[in-house]
Amino acid sequence: MLSLQDKTNAMKKRDFIKLTGLASAGLIIAPLASCSDAAVPETKNEETAAPEMAAQAAFVLPQLPFAFDALAPKIDAMTMEIHHGKHHAGYVKKLNAAIEASPSFAGMSIEDILAKVEADDTGVRNNGGGHYNHSMFWKVLTPGGASAPEGALAEAITSSFGSYDAFAEQFAAAAKTRFGSGWAWLNLDASNKLFISSSPNQDNPLMVNIVEETGTPILGIDVWEHAYYLNYQNKRGDYISSFMELINWNVVEENMMAAMK
Ligand code: MN
Repeated sequence: MLSLQDKTNAMKKRDFIKLTGLASAGLIIAPLASCSDAAVPETKNEETAAPEMAAQAAFVLPQLPFAFDALAPKIDAMTMEIHHGKHHAGYVKKLNAAIEASPSFAGMSIEDILAKVEADDTGVRNNGGGHYNHSMFWKVLTPGGASAPEGALAEAITSSFGSYDAFAEQFAAAAKTRFGSGWAWLNLDASNKLFISSSPNQDNPLMVNIVEETGTPILGIDVWEHAYYLNYQNKRGDYISSFMELINWNVVEENMMAAMK
């Protein structure tokens, strides 16, 4: 869904194209599309209509919901700035390029792309996963520390794992023992039960043709070294402990409610 702001931006863009009369000559489409990248939240530009624009910048880097230094000292500002501005931005750019090279994915939502992608669709797999995973990662973090899960989420965690502490122990263990680069996940399965899994590289549980344990991720922790190395070096366990204190449980609960079948 496009927000009102997005629609307003899209209309302004169309008006501007009309006013200048240059659109048919294709002279201003590229600069406009790249200008819009920074300002428009993650969404597809379906309403901007012109097919050459849609193909050019279907996915955009979402803005961080807080300042780079908001999570310091648990996650330092430089790590956040490089992680968002270089790593995530790189996945978005390469995803758009990969879709251009594999047009069967064009015009699909990121969730539909992940459900369709096969192991040998390397560019779409790695960068589509990278874009989805990081978009979730920024949203499940919050400055100022986290409160514990409440309400329906707290009940679901107790029902699925026995207690919050048992869940936290299993989740941290999945993150700690993921060999090399990857992610650990809290997911909802098809019968609305929570389970923990982990996956290598940028794979995730929505990739039903690739990963063994499939479901809808509602919380993910990035355990690539780029997520923590500047501050924690080899001490992945310390980074995981800090992450557990930064979780935005309200967002995790919203993710769970949205994933309920
Ligand atoms: Mn990352």
